Amino acid sequence: RAKETGRNGVQFYAPHMNAHATDRLALEGALRGALRNDQFELYFQPQVDLGSGRVVGTEALIRWRHPHLGTVRPDRFIALAEETGLIVPIGAWVLRTACRQNQHWQRAGFGPLRVGVNLSARQFSEPDLVQTVQRVLDETGLGADSLEIELTESMMMADVESAIDTMRCLKAMGVTLSIDDFGTGYSSLAYLKRFPVDVLKIDQSFVRDIVGSPDGAAMVDAIISLAHGLRMHVIAEGVETLAQLDYLRGCGCDEVQGHIYGRPGRVEDVEPLLRMGWMEPTPEHA
Ligand code: C2E
Ligand code: MG
Ligand code: MG
Ligand code: MG
Repeated sequence: RAKETGRNGVQFYAPHMNAHATDRLALEGALRGALRNDQFELYFQPQVDLGSGRVVGTEALIRWRHPHLGTVRPDRFIALAEETGLIVPIGAWVLRTACRQNQHWQRAGFGPLRVGVNLSARQFSEPDLVQTVQRVLDETGLGADSLEIELTESMMMADVESAIDTMRCLKAMGVTLSIDDFGTGYSSLAYLKRFPVDVLKIDQSFVRDIVGSPDGAAMVDAIISLAHGLRMHVIAEGVETLAQLDYLRGCGCDEVQGHIYGRPGRVEDVEPLLRMGWMEPTPEHA
């Protein structure tokens, strides 16, 4: 487990904390150093098609290999990276690395695979985002249809018209767009049908509520029907149990991502699964 304080006294900054300016400055410096010294790494989590059991893609999730703290998860540093603007170069690194890796896997013959990349609000509002994405696709040779960009409701709602504009440009390139953590942001259904998105990712808080609560189960069923009615695909996130999986299958959920199929892992751990091409659900605490 990562300790709260590094040997050098760096205190991690979480959005709810009012961290001291000196701590923030130290962490900002550490983040800059991380980028320079290649301390970021991408983990990949498989996404499985419920009908066929095939691995159809992965989501790229950033980790910071901290020299003293070990592997640091994104909740600990993304907020500050966002505030300081460092998320822009970090995000560009994520995009390039994820696309390059996915193209490598496809060239190795692991079938058509999609890679999901999380965007931050700051990146999404950068005026040259669309050019950056195009350049990365050109440089890595990855087909646009193999890239899925994950956005959140709040990013889309900050400036609806310009968000729709940006989304249309990305769609015109052939990129797949998804709404991450769906149901936890404050978007309204009136907007949902205006957003040119292809995939809706049901947040894990809804998935957790499926079993043991009829209302929770009804919510998930309704979200899936709504998405399908709008001709969107559905990915359920954070699926951990067979009971959740069975219920989702019964509702016609398209894809699943969660510990039931596998935690996010390093390239060398995920590769054998991609080579095999399909997965069996395995409850972790069976
Ligand atoms: P997210 O995009 O919603 O990613 C899903 C999170 O759920 C991941 O946490 C993943 O490890 C976790 N997860 C997956 N399956 C399960 C499960 O069965 N049970 C539970 N309890 N959790 C599960 P992670 O990797 O710590 O990432 C947290 C968040 O940080 C992500 O949420 C995303 O919003 C953000 N993030 C990650 N990588 C990046 C990145 O490269 N750029 C940006 N801007 N944000 C990122
Ligand atoms: Mg995501
Ligand atoms: Mg999510
Ligand atoms: Mg999230």
